[in-house]
Amino acid sequence: MADPTLTNAALDPAALPPTFHLSRHPAVLHKLALLRDVRTEPKKFRELVREISWLVGYEALADARLRPLKVRTPLEETDGAELADRIGLVPILRAGLGMVDAMLELMPTAQVWHLGLFRDERTLRPVEYYNKLPDSATVDLSLILDPMLATGGSATAAIEVLKRWGAARIKLINLIAAPEGVAAVTSAHPDVHIHSAALDRQLNERGYILPGLGDAGDRQFGTGVGD
Ligand code: URA
Repeated sequence: MADPTLTNAALDPAALPPTFHLSRHPAVLHKLALLRDVRTEPKKFRELVREISWLVGYEALADARLRPLKVRTPLEETDGAELADRIGLVPILRAGLGMVDAMLELMPTAQVWHLGLFRDERTLRPVEYYNKLPDSATVDLSLILDPMLATGGSATAAIEVLKRWGAARIKLINLIAAPEGVAAVTSAHPDVHIHSAALDRQLNERGYILPGLGDAGDRQFGTGVGD
């Protein structure tokens, strides 16, 4: 099989879990290569995170529910549609922040709830430090935004928080996924669909995705230099 990190289009769809959706759009793959490039500066990196999030988010919303409405053009009245699903965006701090604007462009009426999870570098387990969810679930569809699906620890923790809170339909939007993360999420939450721009090879011993792009938070916000 061709190197899947270079061409998602070469992956055999039958080998992927049915809930894992990999973008095969040429625009996504082109931007992804620029995103991975170590020479890409934070400003350009943020732009690419936004652009790829828009494209992956667009694909993830293909089954969003619509409600019919009438619209008057300058010439006559015609049938139209509007989004019927109430949508909640749940960016995982801090790397998920860069995905929010793109998703709000797609769904201007979505609500945004920030969820702070950091990865304990020793155990690689997620620790919740910030939760801005309202008391009870007020949406039909929750989209968890996190650029990197690595061990799946943060994603699984976020899904558990949302399910406890009463969320009905949950999707996970990533830019790069590791096979370990996809396996962890699909086995713990087979009802949650995952949308990603890439499926990479593996994790390294520090839980980073290979080949990946490094630390998505550091690369967006210009931190981590010299660590
Ligand atoms: N988080 C990141 O930012 N990068 C990785 O490779 C894994 C987790």
